[in-house]
Amino acid sequence: MKRSFSPHKTSRRDAMKMIAAGSAAGLIGFTENPLSGVESRVKPSYATGMAPVKIRSLKAIATAPAGSNLVVVKVETTEPGLYGLGCATFTQRAEAVVTAINSYLNDFCTGKDVDRIEDLWQSAYVSSYWRNGPVLNNALSGVDEALWDIKGKRAGMPVYQLLGGKARFAVPCYTHAGGRTPEEVAASVQKFMEAGFRHIRIQMGGYGGVGTIGSQPDFKEAGFGGQNDGFMDQRGYLRSVPGMFEHVRKTCGEDVELLHDIHERVEPMDAINMIKQLEQYSPFFIEDPFSPENMEWFKQLRISTSVPIAMGELFNNINEFKMPMVNQWFDFIRVHVSQVGGITPAMKIARLGEWFNIRTAWHGPGDVSPVGHAANCHMDLAVWNFGIQEAVSFSEKLQSVFSGCPVMEKGYMSVNEVPGLGVDINEKEAAKYPIGTRSNWLIRKRDGTVIRP
Ligand code: MG
Repeated sequence: MKRSFSPHKTSRRDAMKMIAAGSAAGLIGFTENPLSGVESRVKPSYATGMAPVKIRSLKAIATAPAGSNLVVVKVETTEPGLYGLGCATFTQRAEAVVTAINSYLNDFCTGKDVDRIEDLWQSAYVSSYWRNGPVLNNALSGVDEALWDIKGKRAGMPVYQLLGGKARFAVPCYTHAGGRTPEEVAASVQKFMEAGFRHIRIQMGGYGGVGTIGSQPDFKEAGFGGQNDGFMDQRGYLRSVPGMFEHVRKTCGEDVELLHDIHERVEPMDAINMIKQLEQYSPFFIEDPFSPENMEWFKQLRISTSVPIAMGELFNNINEFKMPMVNQWFDFIRVHVSQVGGITPAMKIARLGEWFNIRTAWHGPGDVSPVGHAANCHMDLAVWNFGIQEAVSFSEKLQSVFSGCPVMEKGYMSVNEVPGLGVDINEKEAAKYPIGTRSNWLIRKRDGTVIRP
């Protein structure tokens, strides 16, 4: 037997001493083979089968079965049949993430121990020297989540068990209600309330009412900007939101929690003034009042209104959360988990939040893969300071590529009880849906000035 140092290992001489002293209750009755009891404590049966496993290779799988580009990392191991999947979806720059995974992380990770998630995360994080970007963080998330998936499979447990076990029976979610008018929005809210949702985000049109408010913008008439550039009438949006809240409250009552996403698209002081007007309708939270470049405005916001605020989907690095959380500038952590590098860093942000009573509200749009949604859900089940989860539905096409997707029922999300993250991929099906390289996030003011989301 190979000998190695372990503080928990009991040597033969120690064992004989213990037997002689008759002091070890666990050894009583082992007359035939006095060492067998010691051996079973040193290496219990439940720890067998955990021989070192190494990463054999990793690859990016890119697919767009529901239209959005999705990227998933598959980590294959030296153990036949054992692999893990992780979400690496940066939908707007998917090809760049694929390159980061296949050309750089594959080489960096091959041969490394699958069990050392923290060490691999930390070393991969600095392996490019320059860091913090969304491309590398998403690539790293793919590996990180895949290693959690593998650890769960090796332990024979769903990942939420490895994170501390269930702190709730399932995950309450909010869904998105929309419409072109307050009446349409209220009708949509009522439909979701009947389906069991208690938390509902309300928006008129796209973010900022794009597509529902305003006329032909001046910049288009002047031939400024691109053909497909969007227009947002900021003043029109600011005027319309309180009216939408008023109508939905009046029509749908007080039993439903209402949320709204500003999506950073108005001037900071205008956002503050609008949020103050919404106080009377008791929003559950208002999301993203400011772009990440305007963080200092939170001081003014917090002394102006007590409406709960969700923030952080555009943050890249977990350090961006530190001071806002210490200063209690917002109430909900709106992390896009793959954007910060996966489960490992997201759990650190969540745990930091616990000290300040700041709750989680992981970003969960259609441009997160089902593997990523499962990762969100496993963390939601385990952290005490869970707040709310953005709901998602998976189309038939998506489920033809990804099996074991989380399920929604009466406003709650659940994961299956399969070891790991519980989601698998059919690579043949995935290959039927190639990704694209177009991204269309450009919105302009009336005069053509670009608006920062
Ligand atoms: Mg948002």
